[in-house]
Amino acid sequence: MDVRLVNCFKNEIKNYTNVQKLIDFKNIFHKKYIIPLYEKLKILPIDEKKDFGKYVNATKNEIQKIYLEKLTEIKQIENNKKNEVNYNLNLNTFNLHKGCKSILTIVEEQIIKYFEKLNFKIVPGTEIVTIKNNMDQLNIDETHPIRDKKDTFYIDGEKMLRTHCTATTAEVIYNQNCETKVLSYGNVYRNDDDDMTHSHQFTQIDIVWIKKNLTINHLKTIIDGLLKYIFGNKIKTRYRLSFFPFTEPSFEVDISCFNCNGKGCQICKNSGWIEILGAGVLHPNVLKKANITAIDTGIACGIGIERIVMLKYGLSNIRDIYNNDFKLIEQVKENIV
Ligand SMILES: [Zn+2]
Repeated sequence: MDVRLVNCFKNEIKNYTNVQKLIDFKNIFHKKYIIPLYEKLKILPIDEKKDFGKYVNATKNEIQKIYLEKLTEIKQIENNKKNEVNYNLNLNTFNLHKGCKSILTIVEEQIIKYFEKLNFKIVPGTEIVTIKNNMDQLNIDETHPIRDKKDTFYIDGEKMLRTHCTATTAEVIYNQNCETKVLSYGNVYRNDDDDMTHSHQFTQIDIVWIKKNLTINHLKTIIDGLLKYIFGNKIKTRYRLSFFPFTEPSFEVDISCFNCNGKGCQICKNSGWIEILGAGVLHPNVLKKANITAIDTGIACGIGIERIVMLKYGLSNIRDIYNNDFKLIEQVKENIV
């Protein structure tokens, strides 16, 4: 066998990966090197033919063997490739809608962010609170309607679902004889009949700032800043004296109608003003019951988030906030700044 020729063939096809290329090379090699050997065999003297014939056949057979091995190897690799599953990881998403936060959460987070910048401590609190924190600590006397079993969800003789986030605030400020800035937020519950503007469960933010020598001006600065932040710099604010058991004096805060600029329209019921939140200076009894003796002033305000959402996005039914109507959410999302 011609070892040099066999090795030459073997080395050439070593890295082949294509069947056709291998077949072509094998044919050319055969024509160029093997056929001439057979032609030489034909013309050799008879006594040399036998040995040379064996030599040529052995060479040809060895090359054929190497060729077939390589052919099998390449075909095997190609088959394996065909059997590989091509997973397409690019899931077609044209029918999917990207989710988003509810408008209630968006507005709630905006307001919380405003007070965070003023260094208020943010406390969600629990929805089940003590009657003591919800009423007693807040100067709500025995005759106040909120104590009525018809108006409030009591759990037992000591606990209830909070009717306002001020219950959480009362818990946080107890014994705090130093400057305290706290914002409580979350669900509150009142045994109201559900209608277009009322829900038995709604969302509130309550803020209290306790510090020596605070004035109504501090309260006004914070609230005016908040309302301009929510409704834009053009609005004006108005403070009307009101009554809440836990503040004295107490105010209802109105904003000038952002829809008609005070001229009168459906939103402001032709008054030019929209009632927006309640605020005031903490009643001395609240500080006393919280065991706060070192500080004599505190200011507070309570915000109903649903009311702000409805006004800001022109909703007439409070249920629209909870119903997750995608069309409505998409519309509102476009208007969110
Ligand atoms: Zn108006």
